[in-house]
Amino acid sequence: MIDITLLGSGGGMPMPNRHLSSMLISYQGRKILIDCGEGTQVAMRKLHTGFKSIDIICITHFHGDHIFGLPGLLSTMANSDRTEPITIIGPVGLKDMMEGLLVVIPYLPYDIHLIENPQGTLKLNDMYISTMKLQHSMPCLGYGFYVPRLPKFDLKRAIENKIPRKIWSKLQKGEAVSYEGKDYSPDLVLGEKRRGIKISYITDTRPIDEIVEFISESDLFVCEGTYGADEDLEKAIKNKHMTFKEAAELAYKGRVKELLLTHFSSSMDEPELCRINAENVFKNTIIGYDGYMKTLSYR
Ligand SMILES: [Zn+2]
Ligand SMILES: [Zn+2]
Repeated sequence: MIDITLLGSGGGMPMPNRHLSSMLISYQGRKILIDCGEGTQVAMRKLHTGFKSIDIICITHFHGDHIFGLPGLLSTMANSDRTEPITIIGPVGLKDMMEGLLVVIPYLPYDIHLIENPQGTLKLNDMYISTMKLQHSMPCLGYGFYVPRLPKFDLKRAIENKIPRKIWSKLQKGEAVSYEGKDYSPDLVLGEKRRGIKISYITDTRPIDEIVEFISESDLFVCEGTYGADEDLEKAIKNKHMTFKEAAELAYKGRVKELLLTHFSSSMDEPELCRINAENVFKNTIIGYDGYMKTLSYR
């Protein structure tokens, strides 16, 4: 099971009633934070999420609405006696950005590992993190999070392969076991493959074709919907963002289970009023709001 919390749902600048878009993924007692705009730690306090167990911070890009909260949060984590290292992932320019930022927070009691412009898939704890290049006004990364699920236990195979009962549960968990002088591998008791949980996080960008494959069959597709009205398409093209309709088209083509819209322009007071523009294209749309929470389970 994975829990997600939308800490904020705004784009551009923090508003009295809307924090900047940022999301927290909680899995096995540890946390991943995606983006950290100004006020993200305030949103975390309001929702009582805690700071201490954040292991990874994924940064989409270096526009202020996605990073201005980072020095404050790192400093608060230092003040809460954090000593375990933190990994920060981001696009090209991450090292330069962090160098500048560390000028104002030079003494942190924990190490920071930087992963700039990651290639391929990273495995962190039990989670696989992949990235893709988006089309925005500066280098920007989309993120994919996948937690695999072990295949089913195949009783028939376990018996046929004469596997001692005592080691069944270890093998079922995917561990290789040495028992009474013999080695046993998990595939001796495992059967049919099962799908894990996939979450995609795409902001800020134009709706490029590559996104469809990247988000394919996600359980949850979190996507920017900077503009709600179809009439704002020109603005979306000019500012390299998306309308609700464009985000919904990606969700439909990517055959995702649910679309969660976020990163609403500060000029849009009530994103709910534009819900229909997304729902006309993709029914399973959630209009995000600060504090929205969801638990994702294996299907
Ligand atoms: Zn933004
Ligand atoms: Zn941006």
